[in-house]
Amino acid sequence: MKTMKCKDLGGACEREFNAPTFEEMAEISRNHGMEMLKIQDRPHLEAMNRMREIMEDPQKMQEWINSKRMEFDKLPED
Ligand SMILES: [Zn+2]
Repeated sequence: MKTMKCKDLGGACEREFNAPTFEEMAEISRNHGMEMLKIQDRPHLEAMNRMREIMEDPQKMQEWINSKRMEFDKLPED
């Protein structure tokens, strides 16, 4: 398992996620983001607005995913 923080994944808090693969890590992070959106958590809403700019550009989005995947790959196993 590897550990990444919400903040490391384009989020806004220190919540830690544990997952064995980057895909699962991204999924957990996305679910957490949806929960925060539901309760209208302001720091997460702002983080999501910043992410939206990246998400609107498929090339930027791909670059962002690649850089996060590289960070994930470099992390030590827990
Ligand atoms: Zn968070």
